[in-house]
Amino acid sequence: MAPARGILAIGSQAADFMRVLLVEDDRMIGQAVQTALRQDGYAVDWVRDAESADTALTTAGFDLVLLDLGLPGRDGVDLLRTLRTRHDATPVLIVTARDDVQDRVGGLDAGADDYLVKPFDLDELGARMRALLRRSAGRGEAVFEHRGVRIDPATREVTRDGEPVTLSPREFAVLEALMLRPGAVLSRAQLEDRLYGWGESVESNAVEVYIHGLRRKLGHDFVQNVRGVGYFVPKADSQGPG
Ligand code: CA
Repeated sequence: MAPARGILAIGSQAADFMRVLLVEDDRMIGQAVQTALRQDGYAVDWVRDAESADTALTTAGFDLVLLDLGLPGRDGVDLLRTLRTRHDATPVLIVTARDDVQDRVGGLDAGADDYLVKPFDLDELGARMRALLRRSAGRGEAVFEHRGVRIDPATREVTRDGEPVTLSPREFAVLEALMLRPGAVLSRAQLEDRLYGWGESVESNAVEVYIHGLRRKLGHDFVQNVRGVGYFVPKADSQGPG
């Protein structure tokens, strides 16, 4: 672990509301990494063992997992295998003190995307995270379009009927979540999950404010709600949730 150096040079563009799961049982390392990443705008959830990580990954979506291998109880490689077995493709960066070639090969073969050996430099961690996030963005849907609204997750450009629309980063995150699956209803809690890490304070009407902004900019009908359930963008050929 490099001495604490304050700010990680991750680049706020890449870090905008990316959600990271940090799996680390070492208190000092965990705290240093969490603090540095939060300063760079990542939403960071920190768990200390594989079981909690497993639960977190089945209940929320993460853009990246930082995974220690030596954990109390179940170890990190076991968690990684479980994850890949259920076709969870979340990028995983192993961060561990195990530096044998065999450990590295084993971790990568179990489905890790990259491997960083402790002690590590926070700058290198940041650079590797950026590389993984770039790669995973390139792997996903490049650009998607629905009812005249087109969004590009890589550049964060949005157009409506060909005209540029300016969205705040959180409005963009809400829109992206809804447009990934037209017709699917997302609850307020699911949308909040996408925007905030655990323990971050959330204004009770935050999601409503973003939805209001999206409707103002994209047309009132573009985002609809099912009272008491959540929000959805209608499929192209219907007005109801699908
Ligand atoms: Ca450990």
